Amino acid sequence: MARSVRPMTLAKEAALDAATAARSTCPICRRRYHHVLPLRTIGSCLECHDGTPVDPASYSTSAAAGAHWLAA
Ligand SMILES: [Zn+2]
Repeated sequence: MARSVRPMTLAKEAALDAATAARSTCPICRRRYHHVLPLRTIGSCLECHDGTPVDPASYSTSAAAGAHWLAA
């Protein structure tokens, strides 16, 4: 017996995803990390914060994410 999905769920998930995206994207290098950036680095990734190299596998620089500012 399938449970019905309430209309609120999609909106909640979209809002949650936007919040997570904002917290996992470095404002300096614009990399989208697969994890939420630590608050102690004031929202930037470790590499931008103190130069610690980050594993390239831990973030994505997808064409979709960068398309709007590469198209200028
Ligand atoms: Zn960064």
